Amino acid sequence: MTVHSPLGASSAERWLHCPGSVALAKKIVLPDAEESEYAKEGTAAHEAAAFCLKNDFDSWEIIGQDFDGIVCTREMAEALQIYISYARALMAQHWMIEAGIGRDPDSRPHKDFYGTVDFAAYTDHPYEPISVVDYKHGVGISVDAEQNPQLMYYAYGVLHNLKTIGFPVELSRPVVLTIVQPRGFHPDGPIREWQTTAGEIKRWAQEELLPAMHRVEISEQFDAGSWCRFCPAKLVCPLLAGLFGAAQADTRPAMELTDEVLGREYQYIEAVEHRIKALKAAALSRLMGGSLVPGIKLVHKKGNRVFKDGAEAILAAKLGEAAYTPAALKSPSEMEKVSHEAPKLVREWCYIPETGYTVALESDRRQACEAPTPQNVFQHMILTKTAEES
Ligand code: SF4
Repeated sequence: MTVHSPLGASSAERWLHCPGSVALAKKIVLPDAEESEYAKEGTAAHEAAAFCLKNDFDSWEIIGQDFDGIVCTREMAEALQIYISYARALMAQHWMIEAGIGRDPDSRPHKDFYGTVDFAAYTDHPYEPISVVDYKHGVGISVDAEQNPQLMYYAYGVLHNLKTIGFPVELSRPVVLTIVQPRGFHPDGPIREWQTTAGEIKRWAQEELLPAMHRVEISEQFDAGSWCRFCPAKLVCPLLAGLFGAAQADTRPAMELTDEVLGREYQYIEAVEHRIKALKAAALSRLMGGSLVPGIKLVHKKGNRVFKDGAEAILAAKLGEAAYTPAALKSPSEMEKVSHEAPKLVREWCYIPETGYTVALESDRRQACEAPTPQNVFQHMILTKTAEES
């Protein structure tokens, strides 16, 4: 069984922001939660990809094969092939597949610095990049490569491994960090790369990563944000409970808050939503386990009507063509899966229309835009009309 570091790369974003979460997670006894189907599928996908890369297989050759109790489907194989092709193109001289970092406890930069990197490759040429690749099988949350602490942690681990074998790496040597996430939509596509240098990775590790690892040992400070999503201590976190309680007790009309207060409180919306999600999951789990919880009960989910077996023949005979939905163009993400050339066509024929305005945190990658005024709306209409006429 894989042993995960309490200060591992995959949770780095959380403990870099919230050092108190590590001690809190250690104190709680979590129920023997079954590994979620998503997690199982992710583990199996990584195993399948490593198998293909190590044995020089393409993913279509393993369709139907079992990996950790999960059968490789066509859909899984299509996603894996994008990662396999990308990694294989980097396999020139030296590479690591599902390789350990920080395996030797005596030479680790911190006792909890260890883990497994999906893929890394490098050559003997001192100016060629060292590549570090992380495969994400998930659909839901699309991840950026730029300044990604998980990837930077892995990169530092790879540099550390190279140091222990005496492989020289100049500080100026490029390091390319890549996320391959074929199943989740991201405006930059399924493969996102970010180039930095070995010197920058080492600087980040010395000035940010390692001090944060030491801070965890002495600090009980909490900070809530998007990183609360995967925090194992969500249900017992005093900060989330406090924020949730404060939100419940808050009777101030939102329109009367000052800009400063509104901006500050907005930072915590996502954290409170994670608390709500965790409460819902705990309630369902308890009721499904047979507990009687005052104030709530187990009910059937609302369903939609579906036709009985044999309905199609009767309805088609009686209603003809009207019984069927006319053929319609698939959505861009569905279309991308149609064939190998489909993603290129989708890129060529797709655009993202403006659909209005929303609020984002300062840390969001999108550029801030100006609020619409009668003048700039009018100006935009004139420019559009001129462009159409010319
Ligand atoms: S839920 Fe959020 S604030 Fe609370 S311990 Fe976890 S990461 Fe920190």
